[in-house]
Amino acid sequence: MRSIITIGWEKTGLGWFTRKLNFTLSNGRLMANDWEKEAEYLIERELKPEGITDERVVAAMYSVKREKFIPGSLGDKAYGNYPLPIGENQTISQPYIVGLMTQALDVKSSDKVLEIGTGSGYQAAILAELASVVYSIERIEILATRARTNLYSQGYNNVIVVHGDGTEGLPGYAPYDKIIITAAAPDIPESLLSHLKNGGKMVVPAGDRFVQDLLLVEKALNGRIYKSSLCGCRFVPLIGKEGWKD
Ligand code: SAH
Repeated sequence: MRSIITIGWEKTGLGWFTRKLNFTLSNGRLMANDWEKEAEYLIERELKPEGITDERVVAAMYSVKREKFIPGSLGDKAYGNYPLPIGENQTISQPYIVGLMTQALDVKSSDKVLEIGTGSGYQAAILAELASVVYSIERIEILATRARTNLYSQGYNNVIVVHGDGTEGLPGYAPYDKIIITAAAPDIPESLLSHLKNGGKMVVPAGDRFVQDLLLVEKALNGRIYKSSLCGCRFVPLIGKEGWKD
């Protein structure tokens, strides 16, 4: 589908703003994009057959409006099952990978979750649907600011976005029930592992700069660490003290 026209405006708390409405040419007629239908197609025809079947995760993916987290010019691609650029050489992950990581974390409604790599804020919004509170760290300030706007305008007030190097975590709020790293790490960052509760889970893409294993790291109640690989993947690099150098 191709969006072919931009029109419209909306009133926000700050005044009137132009807003993109995407139209698609269908049978020779201009039709406004039907986001609900596109989301349903993505979830029912692509994600569920690929194993994203956890009811709470599926419900969260129905609830979060992905079109609100990507640049307006890419609006008509909001429900494609692929990553998209969000500026500053960064990407919003493919919906399948978001579903897979979230499902592996098994987020409970009482959980305190830490995310490293806020990006657009989309993954944080999915987590916010499921958890009690989400702390999310983003290294690029402009993305952190944009993600805050995206999240708060959608009512996700249980997400705290922090600008900084996430490889060192946020020790002040540790320990966390769940930790998710959405950028490629050379190894499991030791500081973050130490901030994970006994009985907690972490998902992290680890490997070289170009291809990684998506690892599920489980910390047993006695503190022992178990690792398993969910799949191969390709993330943008985690840059920082316990990540890659610039
Ligand atoms: N979860 C995001 C996608 C993440 S892309 C979403 O839903 O849109 C990876 C993000 O990690 C990028 O925005 C990048 O700037 C950020 N990043 C890389 N290294 C980081 C670090 N050390 N600390 C915090 N964020 C980091």
